[in-house]
Amino acid sequence: MEDYDAAKSLKDFKPKHQFFVAVDSDGSAFDSMEIKHKECFIPNIIKYWNLQGVSKYVRQTAEFVNLYSKWRGKNRFPCLLRVFDLLAEREEVKKRGIKMPEVQALRDWVKEEPKLGNPALEKKVAETNDPVLKHTLEWSKAVNATIADIVKGVTPMTYVRESLAKAQEHADVMVVSTTPYEALEREWEEHDIARYVEIIGGQEMGTKPVMLGYATKGKYEQGHVLMIGDGPGTDMRAAKENNAFFYPINPGHEEESWKRFYEEAFDKFIEGAYAGQYQEMLIEEFNQYLPEDPPWTK
Ligand SMILES: [Mg+2]
Repeated sequence: MEDYDAAKSLKDFKPKHQFFVAVDSDGSAFDSMEIKHKECFIPNIIKYWNLQGVSKYVRQTAEFVNLYSKWRGKNRFPCLLRVFDLLAEREEVKKRGIKMPEVQALRDWVKEEPKLGNPALEKKVAETNDPVLKHTLEWSKAVNATIADIVKGVTPMTYVRESLAKAQEHADVMVVSTTPYEALEREWEEHDIARYVEIIGGQEMGTKPVMLGYATKGKYEQGHVLMIGDGPGTDMRAAKENNAFFYPINPGHEEESWKRFYEEAFDKFIEGAYAGQYQEMLIEEFNQYLPEDPPWTK
């Protein structure tokens, strides 16, 4: 419903080429995940949830959850709970006698709310006046304020420009992101890489699987659509749900991934050699960078 008009440009999009490449922005085209988590999310987790006494372990745990595990790219609220749960089990934390905050109201809200975000949380706080939810909202707003204050001058990953320029010759290129459209347009224009893409899909237009579907469904042949991304539960899922190929940007090895896309993977894609073994190899490698269990439990 509210996505309908916002997504009109995606639905009306007419192919110019036989191939289609969708690119995620945060953590894939732009090196923004590291700075957002390390400089913005984590300091605010420590501050707002009074975890100064175990800051070292909070940092390690939150980096694992948000950057180097299967949870990478997931919503901030379930990720916060995951951080608390992993911390609660750590011997180092138990030994210091530090307890994780009691956040049952947040757990319940995360379970029941389909649109996890500040607007929904604000509504819930207004309805319930729950102190835990109120505090969570303050934390979440502080994270946004820190991001607005600190995250500037983030640059595209090396080989992104070259890759997009190459892709543009044979494929329609689209940005598929859950960042607000305004911010995306600004970032892509600022670095002069918007000229390589036909369309930009942002938060307002729907989820990633939905956006990819709008832009490609019934418009390209099977095997002619590829999604590039760094999130297993978001980008890879969007590809799977749309019967598209997936090209992973490996966390911590982003530039090698883009170099390989530029030198090898895109050619395989347009030559019809991407399916099967090649894609499986890439996904297997990607999964190794994103384990389920933290390294300190081994
Ligand atoms: Mg991403």
